[in-house]
Amino acid sequence: MTTPVKKLTNILRLEAEKCQDRAVFGGLARYTDTWSQEARAAFGPEADDWIQAVADRLGVYGSLPDQTARQEAVATLLEMLKAAPSLGQEEKREKAPSPPDISPQARPRRETAAKPRSVERPAPTPRASAQARTGLDSPITVLQGVGPQQAQRLAKLDVNTIRDMLYLFPRRHEDYSQLKPINRLEYGEEVTVIAQVWDAGVRETRGGSTLFKATLSDGTGSIEVTWFNQPYLADKIKAGQQIVISGKVNEYLGRLCFNSPEWETLEEELLHTARLVPVYPLTGGISAKWLRRLVKRTVDYWSKRLPDHMPASVRQEEDLLDLETAIVQVHFPDNKESLKRARYRLAFDELFVLQIGLLRRRHLWRSVPGKPLPVDDTTLRGFTHALPFELTNAQQRALRQIVADLRSDRPMNRLLQGDVGSGKTVVAAAAMALTVTTGAQAALMAPTEILAEQHYQTIGRLLEQMPGHRPTVRLLTGSVTGQEREEIYARLADGGVDVVVGTHALIQEGVQFKELALAVVDEQHRFGVRQRAALRQKGYNPHLLVMTATPIPRSLELTLWGHLDVSIIGEMPPGRKPVVTRLILPTERERAYTFVHSQTEKGRQVFIICPLVEESEKIEAKAAVEEHERLQKHIFPDLRLGLLHGRMKGKEKEATMARFAQGELDILVSTSVVEVGIDVPNATVMLIEGADRFGLAQLHQFRGRVGRGEHDSYCLLVSDSSSPEAQERLQAVEATNDGFLLAQKDLELRGPGEFLGTRQSGFPDLKLASVTDLRLVEAAREAARRFFETDPELADPDNRLLARRVAQFWKGEGEVS
Ligand code: ADP
Ligand code: MG
Repeated sequence: MTTPVKKLTNILRLEAEKCQDRAVFGGLARYTDTWSQEARAAFGPEADDWIQAVADRLGVYGSLPDQTARQEAVATLLEMLKAAPSLGQEEKREKAPSPPDISPQARPRRETAAKPRSVERPAPTPRASAQARTGLDSPITVLQGVGPQQAQRLAKLDVNTIRDMLYLFPRRHEDYSQLKPINRLEYGEEVTVIAQVWDAGVRETRGGSTLFKATLSDGTGSIEVTWFNQPYLADKIKAGQQIVISGKVNEYLGRLCFNSPEWETLEEELLHTARLVPVYPLTGGISAKWLRRLVKRTVDYWSKRLPDHMPASVRQEEDLLDLETAIVQVHFPDNKESLKRARYRLAFDELFVLQIGLLRRRHLWRSVPGKPLPVDDTTLRGFTHALPFELTNAQQRALRQIVADLRSDRPMNRLLQGDVGSGKTVVAAAAMALTVTTGAQAALMAPTEILAEQHYQTIGRLLEQMPGHRPTVRLLTGSVTGQEREEIYARLADGGVDVVVGTHALIQEGVQFKELALAVVDEQHRFGVRQRAALRQKGYNPHLLVMTATPIPRSLELTLWGHLDVSIIGEMPPGRKPVVTRLILPTERERAYTFVHSQTEKGRQVFIICPLVEESEKIEAKAAVEEHERLQKHIFPDLRLGLLHGRMKGKEKEATMARFAQGELDILVSTSVVEVGIDVPNATVMLIEGADRFGLAQLHQFRGRVGRGEHDSYCLLVSDSSSPEAQERLQAVEATNDGFLLAQKDLELRGPGEFLGTRQSGFPDLKLASVTDLRLVEAAREAARRFFETDPELADPDNRLLARRVAQFWKGEGEVS
């Protein structure tokens, strides 16, 4: 494209933002003469008609009656510029762009001119034909300007192929679309200015660094611009030139100025200024401008060659942009709206593919027949009547769903969610009781010995009350050894034991069941997929019930456990007293200690949680040891304090927990290891130090450790930070006992990785989609479900691309659980 056409195109694109005739100082009309002269010089007299037509429109632009008319005029002008006569003397002089640089402007343009074709770009150069053989999965070194060294650097950004480059999404966009004349600039705003360079030059500072200073003027005023340590700019920015700068308006000695703004000349296609400018992640040796240019070239050429894997039906129903447009717009958006749509399409993509994968897992799971259990209603009624309380509505609903699963010939794969204390164990116990009345066996696996022990007792008690046949229940943990273990092994194998409760010991090789029909796993994300699978393998496609006490926001649940059915107990048993929660200032700590003491005098017990130390468990343990010592020596010398931290051996931990549970300790000083659900009804105070360092969901879990008995209970949150954000977060815990609400908030604040505690292995790699966006997750889920029904095997040739994409996304995730 010739220079005058480029210039005017850029000006008109800027003008199109607001159509207030502000793109050029004094209005477009004043630019008419200058432009006509330049155009005539470039195109020669043959183009006079065309030049005149453009000039006419420019001339009247300022006097058009309203914005609509101006918008139309801008559109028309842009069209006219596209139809610019190709050729002219100047183009010959211009350096032809290199082949990969097939930007829209550089493509052979419409044949509107009557000029000879001799100056049209020659047929494919060797480089261009090499291009034709390369594909989206070619290494980025096939791109011009990317050598092995740059490729290595790009690899750090996970960009290895051309496709990767298309999917290197900007972290954000700098909004430089606001264009202003110099006399209307305001301190602190991010703007774009088009102006002429008055003078420019390099200066050395006393410190030995260089400053490149330029004075720019646009007729309304002038402004100083400084670039630090870029002396080479002297060769690029010269007096008389028109340039575009974008950046933040600064101030120096009372005068407005710019410091190191983005800049480019008005003749270029504007990439770094005057638009929504993409900001990419960077790494050593890669500059923002270089990468932006490379992405632009790659996107221009390759986005057209990227086949769209999204089924057309889904695209239509969901009103999604096509893939090419989405990729172009996500990098170099025309405006905010199109950026939003592009991001939506690409985020939808990720979730759609993820959901298809989950649906496939579920499909596979369900395609293997399980064993239907002939559970009858009388037994169910017998069990519930024997309970010392009435099941809540939520418990009843969950139980009905589970019973329906047990009766079906498809193996159950269900997640039972409920806040701490909502009564999941009873529901699981009921399912186990029903299972054993059919003559089959049931197993429950818990993450720690103490929890297993607790479950063993609860479940033993519940099953004892069953009318008729009383099942045999046994406990199997690492502590069960020797003859006792051999005996349990034998009885599990011959069916003498109906129910076994235990830890990892249950999935040891020696364990064999006569007929395991129901496997229950407590505390979902303490166990990996593999361990759950191992337990399941002990039977022939047994029914699986997974219990979790961490309320999981629906959006996350759909993304992580979308292949499971879910029952939620969203209601507490009646008469539960809420735990009184208070925020405590560090200065009020003494009062908190006094309160703790008074509770122990009443015979109650107390948890004191030490601050979370992110750096290492070792440092955290050390801090806990010191805190324990301090408290024992100086604060509570008359009380019995125990200590619990992550560096202790499993056995030591278990022993301390057991002593606390049996009332042999008054205070348990602990790191976050205590989080997992142990039940000490006599504990009434949970004091959490450094509360601001924990997630909200985790604080709620801690709080759930108290308030399990008949006494009033308290949760005291001591915060190290008095920042308003920390206070606000903690106030949320103070204000509500609703675990779901807190979980949602926590997920939004910290993201899924942190939310789940440890980084879950196999957590889907989502670049754009947010798992907190329930509406998007649900839309993708629903679309995937509808689509999946039409072709569950993805066997239709039309769906080949999608199938490949799903396989790529789920690579290494073959396990079905
Ligand atoms: P979770 O495992 O969900 O944290 P549990 O099953 O341990 O909760 O139940 C917490 C306590 O509430 C237990 O002591 C249990 O006996 C009691 N409980 C459970 N369901 C009910 C109910 N419907 N009515 C009264 N108490 C209940
Ligand atoms: Mg529990």
